[in-house]
Amino acid sequence: MRLILLGPPGCGKGTQSQRLTEKYGIPQLSTGDMLRAAVKAQTPVGQKAGGLMARGELVPDDVVVAIVAERIEQPDAKNGFILDGFPRTVPQAEALDRMLADKGMKLDAAIELKVDEGILHQRIAKRVADMQARGDTIRADDNPEALEKRVHAYRLQTAPLVSYYSNNGLLRSTDGMASIDEVSGAIDRILGKARQASAAASRQRKSAKVSVRARKARAGKAAKARKTGSKAKAATRKRPAKAAARRAPGRRKATAKTRRKRINKAGRRG
Ligand code: ADP
Repeated sequence: MRLILLGPPGCGKGTQSQRLTEKYGIPQLSTGDMLRAAVKAQTPVGQKAGGLMARGELVPDDVVVAIVAERIEQPDAKNGFILDGFPRTVPQAEALDRMLADKGMKLDAAIELKVDEGILHQRIAKRVADMQARGDTIRADDNPEALEKRVHAYRLQTAPLVSYYSNNGLLRSTDGMASIDEVSGAIDRILGKARQASAAASRQRKSAKVSVRARKARAGKAAKARKTGSKAKAATRKRPAKAAARRAPGRRKATAKTRRKRINKAGRRG
């Protein structure tokens, strides 16, 4: 199963992705986590991304696309994945389509978690408080100014993906304002339907293949029958019936009338 979770920062993508990972045994591919790891390890990508992320701006498309392209090649992503935070722009979505098409793969659904923007600040403030309570390091972009920018970037650059996935029939939206369990339940129902639809589509593809094969087999049989039929006809032609054999070549079979005439003529002669 290959899924995308779509929604603004703080909508619950991370929480739901983790639950889906446990449930379906497929990895959560969070570009935010990957980038944060790169920043921590001070890799060239991390050095490029660090400042942008801290300000709440998006990292350039080519950088993120390269990271995802490499990540989905890993063996654990072979049977599916949950993309959390990617794609975030239309060019990223197009790059993902190309990547998957090259591998003969496709997405099962893009799940949008719809939330009121007003709640996002409260949710991020709660996340910061929880992290502080646990003694975790607070994210550089979990502050009111950076959050404002992240929400702005979402509205401007990511929200158009709702139409993108709606146009290609993959969009499924659910209320992200509901409780965590309720959202998980809604996602389960969405995925149940998506799986049924893809099973039905694959059954249809299979039966279409079978009927093409059956049609070809019928056509083959008919051709063979025609061939043997013409051979048989040819054989009949080679071994003409006795009467036909007696007839001089080119002479048509006598009608009853001509036969009577011939008999009368012969009688007169005799
Ligand atoms: P959130 O969804 O809470 O904003 P993420 O952890 O998904 O947080 O992303 C954090 C930051 O990482 C983003 O604000 C952005 O700077 C960068 N980032 C993550 N994913 C992408 C992406 N697909 N394209 C560009 N930048 C990204």
